[in-house]
Amino acid sequence: MENCLFCKIIVGDIPSAKVYEDDLCFAFKDINPQAPVHVLVIPKAHIESAAAVDGSNSSVVAHIFEVIPKIARELGLDGGFRVVSNVGDDGCQSVHHLHFHILGGAKLSETLG
Ligand code: 5GP
Ligand code: ZN
Repeated sequence: MENCLFCKIIVGDIPSAKVYEDDLCFAFKDINPQAPVHVLVIPKAHIESAAAVDGSNSSVVAHIFEVIPKIARELGLDGGFRVVSNVGDDGCQSVHHLHFHILGGAKLSETLG
């Protein structure tokens, strides 16, 4: 997808601190961490947001949710973590390529919104 920041990160046109990669997804450290551990997991296929997930592309989301616990274990998030996906303007989505934030490494705020 032209002009998509995260598509550029996947192919290496924009550098990132990679923490995981396989055929279907890519994970890297968020450039502006909101917790001691803040990683983004993204599908390699360009999907706009969680609002664009349907029967044609949901298998990659299932795959990502198998990968998330592996990443969490590798990063030592034994006390737990949070998975967040912002959608659209009201959800304050700033990059329009589906991504799941993994946040952890400390007790997080109880408030979500
Ligand atoms: P959103 O606000 O769309 O849910 O999340 C986008 C996230 O991407 C933000 O947390 C932001 O810090 C992160 N981000 C934006 N640009 C870059 C970048 O160039 N590199 C990395 N590693 N993260 C980025
Ligand atoms: Zn993209």
